[in-house]
Amino acid sequence: MPKEILITREIPQIATDMLEARGFKVTVCPSKSGDKPLSKQELISYLKEKPYDAVISLLTDSIDKEVLDSAPSVKIFANYATGFNNIDLVETKNRGIIATNTPGVSALAVAEHTVALILALTTRIVEADLFTKEGKYKGWSPMNFIGTDLSGKTLGLIGVGSIGTEVVRILAKGFNCRIIYYDVVASDKIESEYGAIKTSTIESLLQQADIVSLHVPLLDSTRHIINSESLKSMKKTAFLINTSRGPVVDEKALVEALENKTIAGAGLDVFEFEPDLSPGLSTLSNVILTPHIASARESARNEMATIAAQNIIDVLEGREAKNRVNK
Ligand code: NAD
Repeated sequence: MPKEILITREIPQIATDMLEARGFKVTVCPSKSGDKPLSKQELISYLKEKPYDAVISLLTDSIDKEVLDSAPSVKIFANYATGFNNIDLVETKNRGIIATNTPGVSALAVAEHTVALILALTTRIVEADLFTKEGKYKGWSPMNFIGTDLSGKTLGLIGVGSIGTEVVRILAKGFNCRIIYYDVVASDKIESEYGAIKTSTIESLLQQADIVSLHVPLLDSTRHIINSESLKSMKKTAFLINTSRGPVVDEKALVEALENKTIAGAGLDVFEFEPDLSPGLSTLSNVILTPHIASARESARNEMATIAAQNIIDVLEGREAKNRVNK
């Protein structure tokens, strides 16, 4: 009997090709509700259809006790994402099920998207585009759309792993930014190569930074790391960028801070209750929103698919998964 693999939504074909090349049988879930994440009940009903050996799950699939109960034969959930906060790590480990992620390969794409959000805010390019397309441009004006210089500004990063390090490289080298950071682990690399300075507290970083960019995983220790108190610590002229996970920011507090001009603006690729937006967020002119697309590049997505498939191949062929996250 061939091993049965479920992929919970369409991802790059390379994953299916790799798995089929090992003789595995692959089923890709068609979403019953169009191009939307599977609902929990849809996921459970797919999992119950066959005794699957492995699953490629997405960050939109909550792999909790109830879902695990419906998949007693699954040996590995290979998450097609860097983050893995959607998987109950304790429960999978207790059941002897391996969980893996796809670290590192989307770092450049996410870093470039982060820089794009920063530049969009400092140059006001999104507002200006809309203004021009709406026919409001009636001639050059000395006072129209005054932006903010990025060069020489202080960039404060919370979390300097794969993605944070790439953001530092681009902005320190390309824009001569001064780099400060807060992380539970010091980074010799960014300190020695880019003169980055580690702050002893998040508050100290928030007080100094012109741009605050978040690159931590979603953990109990990082949930609402940015809240109403921390927003008050930021400069009134500062921008907040979040391409990590939505719940790292208290979104209600952020909307209030943007409405009250406690900070100057924000660029968000992720949302606390995504795909829903907190009331008021989408009508603010000082926020730029993208629909969780920071890693949406062909190269990054192909590599993510390759890693997820390889983790499954390794586990089902009796080897260790390289990217296990629930040891
Ligand atoms: P990484 O593991 O390489 O780096 C995370 C960094 O956060 C590490 O340096 C770690 O020490 C630090 N950290 C952990 N807990 C902390 C805490 N409490 N306080 C301060 N620092 C802490 O991860 P990465 O590849 O850089 O990715 C970061 C996050 O970005 C991922 O976990 C994921 O959720 C998110 N992400 C989003 C997208 C997207 O499409 N928007 C794509 C990829 C990753």
